[in-house]
Amino acid sequence: MPDYHYLIVGGGMTADAAARGIREVDAERDIGVLSEEPDAPYSRPPLSKGLWKGDALESVWRKTADAGVTLQLGKRVTKLDPASRQVTDHRGATYGYRKLLLATGGRPRRLVAGGEQVVYFRTLADYRAVREAADRHRRFAVIGGGFIGSELAAALAGAGCKVTMLFSDAGIGARLFPLDLARHLNEVYAGRAVTVASGQSVIGLVKRGRSYVVRTLTGADIAADVVVAGLGLQPNVELAEAAGLATDNGIVVDERLRTGAPDVFAAGDVAAFTSPVLGRRLRVEHEDNALAMGRFAGRAMAGADDGPYAHLPFFYSDLFDAGYEAVGALDPRLQTVSDWKEPFREGVVYYLQGGRVRGVLLWGIFGKVEEARALLAQPGPFDAGALKGRL
Ligand SMILES: Cc1cc2nc3c(=O)[nH]c(=O)nc-3n(C[C@H](O)[C@H](O)[C@H](O)COP(=O)(O)OP(=O)(O)OC[C@H]3O[C@@H](n4cnc5c(N)ncnc54)[C@H](O)[C@@H]3O)c2cc1C
Repeated sequence: MPDYHYLIVGGGMTADAAARGIREVDAERDIGVLSEEPDAPYSRPPLSKGLWKGDALESVWRKTADAGVTLQLGKRVTKLDPASRQVTDHRGATYGYRKLLLATGGRPRRLVAGGEQVVYFRTLADYRAVREAADRHRRFAVIGGGFIGSELAAALAGAGCKVTMLFSDAGIGARLFPLDLARHLNEVYAGRAVTVASGQSVIGLVKRGRSYVVRTLTGADIAADVVVAGLGLQPNVELAEAAGLATDNGIVVDERLRTGAPDVFAAGDVAAFTSPVLGRRLRVEHEDNALAMGRFAGRAMAGADDGPYAHLPFFYSDLFDAGYEAVGALDPRLQTVSDWKEPFREGVVYYLQGGRVRGVLLWGIFGKVEEARALLAQPGPFDAGALKGRL
């Protein structure tokens, strides 16, 4: 039985960052990574951005093996036994550990019915499949108006495909942005020849010859050769749950990213941690968190004392020519204060709760994330007058 000092379950960006974090503290002891995917760890953001703009496929690799890591690919861990400090993979092979990191991320949410042929976009394998179809300039239906849907629709339209985007909300990114901005994005996409079908809930998919018809609640039938979906993420908590670890929309960790089991840590998209700045439990599905939390967990596993995990992650996206960076809670149900220098091109949206700034959207403004973080840490109270012109 392979017996690793450090064992990481999951082969994503968190796993890579954790291996490097371990190596900052411990250059000697062995690290094993068990990943279900056939590919070595890679960056996911380019799958819906840079790779469609000419970046080479090779640029995605994180080169995790360079950190002196034994990568075991194509191995899905099906059981964790914290008492014997062992995990078991889908073929029944067991692996021992002294310190374990659960970096199992999440899997895409699926349509309730009729979605077997849909590409639920998440992995490099999904990128390869969609790219191959796009190179044949086929008609695409993109279901979902969030991060993945909006980026993929832009990428596919840029690649010359005929794209229909459909989602249940009123505007693109409506779960993050104020309604006026989300509605404006509908127009931006329409201006780039994307057919935007907002307010459409998908109820099923019918195969017709070699193509598909996407059925919606309002009776709209949308024909496409390929259907791609970005409907959000479901954290992969089952392994932890079956081992008796606490979960709450993610694996619950303390301020050092420890679970309740001895020497078992969790980080990245799968981990639910308490943010000291926001004062509540969060699970974050973004690159900056995967990298910072992975590194922190790796260092903690190797014995570093870095204090509590207090990083407030930022995130970003590109939508055709527009781009943004954001930090904190972007929840349009909060009070929002929009401060546009140029409407919908350059400006800041503040998200307020009880007079405190809980989130900041920097639209077309870059390099101000630290200032935004500082604002989130201030007790306030703030009002629109105090915020206008601040960032
Ligand atoms: C297309 C795309 C674009 C994105 N763009 C952005 C962006 O612009 N900005 C941003 O901030 N974030 C972006 N993100 C999000 C960011 O990439 C994720 O937050 C980050 O990759 C999460 O890393 P992770 O390692 O925690 O989880 P994952 O990437 O989900 O990795 C988990 C890994 O664990 C494996 N695994 C799961 N269960 C098991 C098991 N039982 N046994 C073995 N292996 C297992 C999985 O196969 C996977 O390899 C994007 C994501 C995608 C998919």
